[in-house]
Amino acid sequence: MWTRYRFEWGSAVVAAVVAVGVLTGCSTDKSSDDDKPTVVTTFTVLADIASVVAGDRLRVESITKPGAEIHGYEPTPGDIRRSAKADLIVDNGLNLESWFGQFVQSLDVKHVVISDGVTPIDIASDAYAGKPNPHAWMSPLNVEIYVDNLVRAFTELDPDGKSAFEGNAVAYKEQLRAVHDELVKALRGIPEKQRALVTCEGAFSYLTRDAGLSERYIWPVNAEQQATPKQVSATIDYVRANQVPAVFCESTVSNKPMKQVASATGARFGGTLYVDSLSEANGPVPTYLDLIRHDTRTIVSGLTGR
Ligand SMILES: [Zn+2]
Repeated sequence: MWTRYRFEWGSAVVAAVVAVGVLTGCSTDKSSDDDKPTVVTTFTVLADIASVVAGDRLRVESITKPGAEIHGYEPTPGDIRRSAKADLIVDNGLNLESWFGQFVQSLDVKHVVISDGVTPIDIASDAYAGKPNPHAWMSPLNVEIYVDNLVRAFTELDPDGKSAFEGNAVAYKEQLRAVHDELVKALRGIPEKQRALVTCEGAFSYLTRDAGLSERYIWPVNAEQQATPKQVSATIDYVRANQVPAVFCESTVSNKPMKQVASATGARFGGTLYVDSLSEANGPVPTYLDLIRHDTRTIVSGLTGR
């Protein structure tokens, strides 16, 4: 998964800074952010997970901003300049970032596929049938694998940080397990007849597997972005046939087609779910753990009316 790393100049500067620190006996703990190796991720959810594992040893950035559409994103010249100076680039893989292959080809920076080792769930329908569903982070259990991949990649980048990364990972995995348990308990507590999750994008296959919900969506992957009349009417049929009490849509796409489903069927519009992006820091989901908790609460209250 590693591509060759030829930004010797950048690493030489870092090495020189560290060497000066050692020679003069001064602590590198107080070094400014500029001295830290930089990790660039493709989107905000990965940036949050990576920054927890990195602690204060690495600088972590996201190429795309909160609220951005990440599947069909078009990198700017600024993104390319910024990423060319990075020490490591982290992408999700599983065909999530359709733009990433070409992007990373134009750079000579190490890169790690964070979903490596996850058992994918295949997309069931439409043009994407049989391809892996990329939204593996919607299961906190999969994020434990993401964390292991980050520890390995970060340790290669910063060998002295090995025990710090491992310690951060252990603590974070406890939180991931706790949020997984909360999710499963809350969603499996919904009466069986109401346990169906209807969303805009088919981004919840991993979550619905963990939580024992059935899943239905208007379109499989956001790269399409347009709901066809056929997709909308198939969703309406499903909601009617199963008397689904509430339907939902995600923060990074228009909820218009789903509002249409709601008004045609009498189902409640249950609210906005977060998948492909965190909110801004002062919004409802500034971190990945907040995202899972927010979505769990929104789904429970939408489906039960509580
Ligand atoms: Zn998505």
